[in-house]
Amino acid sequence: MTSPLDQKLSAALGGRTAQAFQRGLGLETVGDLLSHYPRRYARRGELSSLTDLPIDENVTIVAEVLEVRSRSMQARRGTISEVLIGDGRGTLTLTFFNQKWRENELRPGVRGIFAGKVGVYRNSFQLAHPDYELFDVAADPSAAKAWAETPIPIYPATSTVASWQVAKAVGVVLDTLPELDDPVPDAVRSARGLVPYRRALELVHRPAVDSEWGAARKSLKFQEAFVLQAGLLLQRERLRATAATPRSPGELLEGFDAALPFELTGDQRAVGTEIAADLAGDVPMNRLVQGEVGSGKTLVALRAMLAVAESGGQSALLAPTEVLAHQHLRSIVRTLGPDLAARLRPTILTGQLPVAERRKALLAIVSGSSRIVVGTHALLGDAVTFFDLGLVVVDEQHRFGVEQREALRVKGAQPPHVLVLTATPIPRTVAMTVFGDLDISSIAELPAGRSPISTHVVPLAEKPGWMTRVWERVAEELAQGRQAFVVCPAIDESSAEDAPLEAPATADTVARKRATVTETLAELRTNPLLEGRRIEALHGRMSSDEKDALMRSFAEGRIDVLVATTVIEVGVDVPNASAMVVLDADRFGVSQLHQLRGRVGRGSVPGLCLLVTVAEEGTLARERVDAVAATLDGFELANRDLELRQEGDVLGSIQSGGRSSLRLVRVTRDGELIGDARLLAGELLAEDPGLERHPALRAALDRRLDEESQAFLSKN
Ligand code: ADP
Ligand code: MG
Repeated sequence: MTSPLDQKLSAALGGRTAQAFQRGLGLETVGDLLSHYPRRYARRGELSSLTDLPIDENVTIVAEVLEVRSRSMQARRGTISEVLIGDGRGTLTLTFFNQKWRENELRPGVRGIFAGKVGVYRNSFQLAHPDYELFDVAADPSAAKAWAETPIPIYPATSTVASWQVAKAVGVVLDTLPELDDPVPDAVRSARGLVPYRRALELVHRPAVDSEWGAARKSLKFQEAFVLQAGLLLQRERLRATAATPRSPGELLEGFDAALPFELTGDQRAVGTEIAADLAGDVPMNRLVQGEVGSGKTLVALRAMLAVAESGGQSALLAPTEVLAHQHLRSIVRTLGPDLAARLRPTILTGQLPVAERRKALLAIVSGSSRIVVGTHALLGDAVTFFDLGLVVVDEQHRFGVEQREALRVKGAQPPHVLVLTATPIPRTVAMTVFGDLDISSIAELPAGRSPISTHVVPLAEKPGWMTRVWERVAEELAQGRQAFVVCPAIDESSAEDAPLEAPATADTVARKRATVTETLAELRTNPLLEGRRIEALHGRMSSDEKDALMRSFAEGRIDVLVATTVIEVGVDVPNASAMVVLDADRFGVSQLHQLRGRVGRGSVPGLCLLVTVAEEGTLARERVDAVAATLDGFELANRDLELRQEGDVLGSIQSGGRSSLRLVRVTRDGELIGDARLLAGELLAEDPGLERHPALRAALDRRLDEESQAFLSKN
């Protein structure tokens, strides 16, 4: 039995329209279209804001025509018609080339919806050749009031599919849509006072009054949370149903602990106990450990590896970059000490390894003689076979997707235990929504003796003179025998960003020149304040040998200032580095800045982080930079970050970049709803694990899985 929601749009709307919807909005089925919910609702009587237009984005505006003018163009033949529209607060110009007849339609006083891409021409905003739909109030003046009060759904649109085209298509589909089975059981729905599915779709797309779409969205939002949580719970059950090899610690770990030059922190000990219990079980561990940079997560993971090694098992540590993989290997070898290192033979495998070394590494892995293997995504390759893979540790989850985790999972004869480490603090609600299948441990406590980092914003918009002071501060740090990082958003003028920068682009940042590694390096080398200092550049276009050699020189104190891109973002550990200057800080995301800042203040000297920006006070860009300076608490920042940016971005970056299946649920605001949904979904699954009595929920889950596997396929 197939659901009406699975019908192809081509069957419902015809091939041409369906193709436009597929290309423009990625919508393929009736279900896709119906869950393309309005972004907001406008009123015909209401004029929406023209004061806050995002450049280069497609907007839909309700406004009134104020003035129309046509003139001949100077440079070439033809006319240009300029139509000034306004909403009482701002104005915007529509331009049409060689379409003088528009004057007949777009008369002063006429109101309508206008849609197009916002551009800037001679310092004013304009829409070139916009689509529009005018309101025809004159036709029936008596109906004008009701008509003016009907909410108009405004859909997310693109340059090829306008909002009202979506509305029209939705109308066509709704007109013939039969009754639908509801994934939310009747009892749950009536207890919460929710609208049935079919009715909710009608009301969300074609409300007569505002209260209708309010109730509809509430119901659809609950349904979304409910289906999501049911899916996550099922996935977790499925994993629990597979068997893993239990691993128990023994003399390897005892010896290691006894030789540690410091005490474990309370949190490290507690998380260690949780992990040990997981490892000793016969279902695969699937645990996320989150903790600030420097809180000692890697050490916790190493102790887990020793437990696995006790019975001859192997552990694989996946690092996001070559630099980090090498650093991990060095620090693991050092931390293990010569005896343990000789027994466990830590080995590295990355894409850049010379052929002979690669062959040696592969042999050590397949024979089982290496019980700790560190690597980049090269570890996921087909050529890599483990003798007995017992544990996979993924460092910095946000760079690895779910699918990579899966690729490694299938490398064991039996599914290995999985431990994910992340320094990106994930609010509880997000963790539950996105990683609902992972158990979560937190390390909040930093090892004793860590020095605080002080962060300052250097606001060049208001204080252009402060740049000199920045380099003075760096010089002062160097004078005390310390080292500094200078981070730039790009390698050189022509290059793309080295690593994706997480800050959303705004009109201002797009137009502005970026600070680059090349220029900054040249500038600092000739800066009299830094005379005689050794200044080098590090970025992603260098070979991993070069990067590695540079990092090593820096770590050994042979370089004073490292000018770099975000390649240094994750995990690099140089205790003597005390200062970090981030140029164009507003181009980085909040959590990126927080991660970068974690590179300093790792030793016993206090860290200093200077965030240089030309973003002006009051802009969103500046707010993000200010937020980072305002607190060292990563968890608070993560929440602030969610507030300041588009939620989709956050989920996207955490969630391996796949299209988020969340449409209405907002993890920042809907924590309670998600919790409720989880509880109710759990109760339902306890009674009906196979969902035999809930076919509609089952179908909804299949649809969601489909969506995810398609997102995965389209990326690979
Ligand atoms: P993370 O991976 O969380 O950033 P690491 O595990 O790399 O942190 O630890 C950072 C540094 O702190 C390492 O040099 C490590 O040896 C050290 N360290 C870890 N745990 C402790 C502890 N309990 N006491 C003192 N130093 C510690
Ligand atoms: Mg680390």
